Formats: sequence, C-alpha cells, structure tokens
Amino acid sequence: MTPNRRLFGTNGIRGLVNKELTVEMAASIGSAIGTFFKGGNLVVGYDARTSSPMLANAVISGLIATGCNVLFAGMAPTPTLQYTVKDYKADGGVIITASHNPPEYNGIKVLWSDGIEISREQEIEIENIFFDGKLSYAGWNSLGTIKPLSGIMDRYIEAVKRHVDTAKIASKSFHVVVDAANSVASLTIPRLLREMGCKVTTINANIDGTFPGRLPEPRPENLKELSLAVRALGADLGVAFDGDADRSIFVDEKGEIHWGDKTFALVAKHFLKENPGEKIVTPVSSSTLIKDVAEAYGGEIVWTKVGSVVVSHTMKALNAKLGGEENGGIFYGPHLAVRDGGMATALILNIMAKEGQPLSKMLEELPKYFIEKGKVECPERLKDMVLEKLIEKVKGSNLSTIDGVKAWFEDKSSILARPSGTEPLYRLYAEAKTAEKAKKLILEYETIIKGIIDSLKSS
Ligand code: MG
Repeated sequence: MTPNRRLFGTNGIRGLVNKELTVEMAASIGSAIGTFFKGGNLVVGYDARTSSPMLANAVISGLIATGCNVLFAGMAPTPTLQYTVKDYKADGGVIITASHNPPEYNGIKVLWSDGIEISREQEIEIENIFFDGKLSYAGWNSLGTIKPLSGIMDRYIEAVKRHVDTAKIASKSFHVVVDAANSVASLTIPRLLREMGCKVTTINANIDGTFPGRLPEPRPENLKELSLAVRALGADLGVAFDGDADRSIFVDEKGEIHWGDKTFALVAKHFLKENPGEKIVTPVSSSTLIKDVAEAYGGEIVWTKVGSVVVSHTMKALNAKLGGEENGGIFYGPHLAVRDGGMATALILNIMAKEGQPLSKMLEELPKYFIEKGKVECPERLKDMVLEKLIEKVKGSNLSTIDGVKAWFEDKSSILARPSGTEPLYRLYAEAKTAEKAKKLILEYETIIKGIIDSLKSS
C-alpha cells in the first residue's frame, strides 16, 4: 500500500478498497497483528462502510489463524469499541474504519489493552512481521475462536453517563439535533441523549455506507443542513459526528457552527474550574484560546505533535485528564484517554445544564481570535533545512519546535509553519486579534519561507 515497509499512517492503516487495501492484505495484516499479540482475546468491530464486513471477516480469519480469540462486536462507533476493550479486559482490539475519509476508503486501527491505539514502535513491530512474512500460524488444534459480544452499546452509554449530572441535564429537557453522518453515531448517540432526558431529532441517521446525506468529515461546509434544522426547530443544540463518531462538532441554538477549538476551550474552562492545576494536552496547531483559558483558570498546557494518537499517549504518560483537538476531538481521561464524540456531547450538555446558559452565550464569552491559513510549495528534500533556517529566523520569540515551528508573539498573535506529511508543502496557520494581522502574518511568513527555499536552491 505504501512504499518503504510502511502500513500505518497517522491514524492506522488507510487505503482505497480493493485497490490499496484488499481482502488478501487484510487477512495477512490480521495474521501479522495476531502474531504481534501472541494469542489472547481481541475485540473486533467495524464502522458503517460498505467494505467493512468484508475486511473485518478477512482480518478475523487472519487473527484466528494465529490463535487469537476474537470477541466480535460487529458494527459500532470507534469510541464504543475502545471502551469495550478496556471494559472486557481484552488484550487489545482491531477496528475496521476509515474515520472521516470518503466512502471508497477503509482502514484498520489496532488497540492496546487499555483501548488506546498502539504506539508507533508497536506499529513498526507489526510492519516488520508483515513485510518479513514472519507470520506465526497456529496448529489446527490451537486455532482461535470467535465469540459474539452483546450489549456493548448499553455498557458504553452507562459508562458515559456516570461522568455527568444526568438529573441536572434531564431537568433542562434540552432539544438536540443529531447529524449522524449516516454512520455508527446512530447506534449510541440518540439513545445516550434520550436516556439523559433530551428530546432528540436526528438527520442522516439511517446507516448507509455510501454516506448519501453528507461527507463523513464534519466540516462547516458539510453541516449546513444541521445548522438549518437547529434554527427551524428552535433546538438548544446541534451536534455532528464524523464517520466513526470519535469527533463531534457543535452548532449553537442560533444555528452557528463552531469549530472544535472553541468547544474544547469551553470544556477546558469548566474542567479547570473544578480541577485547578490540571494538565490540558493539545497539539501545537490548537488555538491560543486554549492557552488563554488555561492561564485564566490555573491549568497547565502540554503541547504535542499534531495527531490524536500522540495526544492519547501523552495523556497516558502524564496521567492527564483532558485533551482536545481543533477538529472536534475531545479526550476525557476519567472515561478513556481517546477522542469520543459521545462523551464530548455529554460534557457539553453538562456544562449547558450547570451554567443555565445557551451555548452561543458561553462561547461568545471566550477570547476571540481570527485565523488565516496559507501554504508554500517546498521540495521534499529541502523540508528539514527550511525548518532549521526558519527556527533561526524566529529565535527570541516564545517558541515551540515540537512539530514544525510555532511562535507566539506579545500581541497575542501566533504562527505555525509545518511541513506537510503527505505533500511537498509547508502549511501555515496564523492567529491574531484582528483578521488583518493574521493575514499579514501569513504573507510575511510565506515571503520568509520562499526566501529560504530560494537561497537553499541557489547555494
Ligand atoms: Mg474519526
């Protein structure tokens, strides 16, 4: 699928079905995963994609061939499967999902016994087993078994409810519109909300792996229907999920769509009010808003590289209880240090119930920032040298070089320049108190990076 002995990308194995990711490969990958786990009990489940049952069956065959016992969960949201691994004290898990990618894609995620995705080092072990063909097959009399699981949605819903004040939420009789992206969010979210006393209206709730309602990435341009529905129905909240329900994007009662930074900052603010001094883990691409909230409410920000797995692993290492991403991923450690759209929705409703204020008002009270994006073409071979020179240029300001280079300035503006992992590009993200300043920063850094590239090319 990818050259140089790599199977795993930033979020598991991903590829075009029957082209980059075939049944034959899925079976071999299953056996490589089984060899890595050396037997044991693994939870296996999948998302709503048309290819998911096909690939799941192949992976399961591969796993039991190596002597692994499969706890078969069937179709379920990613966060439910992650919780199930922990809940059933399984040795790990495998999820067939391509998250927010278009319907022609699918993928494979591998979980450790705590329900969190395995580390990069563990992925390399599986890649080595796969590419070296060192599959360890079991004898005919020690093959694995398949045991179907039942009731995992109920157990997950009960677990989420334990972390919020359900009586308080029920007392408000919130009306929530759920956009389930025609996928697995339908299996847990409407029930979770009804059990918390909410009135629920659903759109795109019929499960259909062709995603007829909208693309599974919950970007603002895909959520116009949700925004209109919230306004037309006079609902209190709208929430949209991605294809495997680990990310959630919220719409306020006025129909305004809010990007994940803002709702994460709101959750962080309320979490820090009750847990002062705690760590908040977030990628360096997140808004300064999170930093402002942490400073105002006595929290400590831990910046990470971009990617949900690194947020989970950092939370695990530091025993941090809250993490978040600008794309709508919220990680609530007391439940499980993975992003979870259901847990995030329960936390937002909990805040709305406690504060007795509409979402729009609470988000309005947060500091405001303007965001601009840009990009500069950069040949692959020059990327590292460009970064070195760029760090020289911005030395002296408040810096992080954990992923690309991010600089925060006195006037609360900031810029992040990151080499793209997939394209010959540098990506720029600027943030400032005015739109003009953010644009100016992008132009300034585009010029600086172009200058560095030109000088490197001519030297
Ligand atoms: Mg996802």
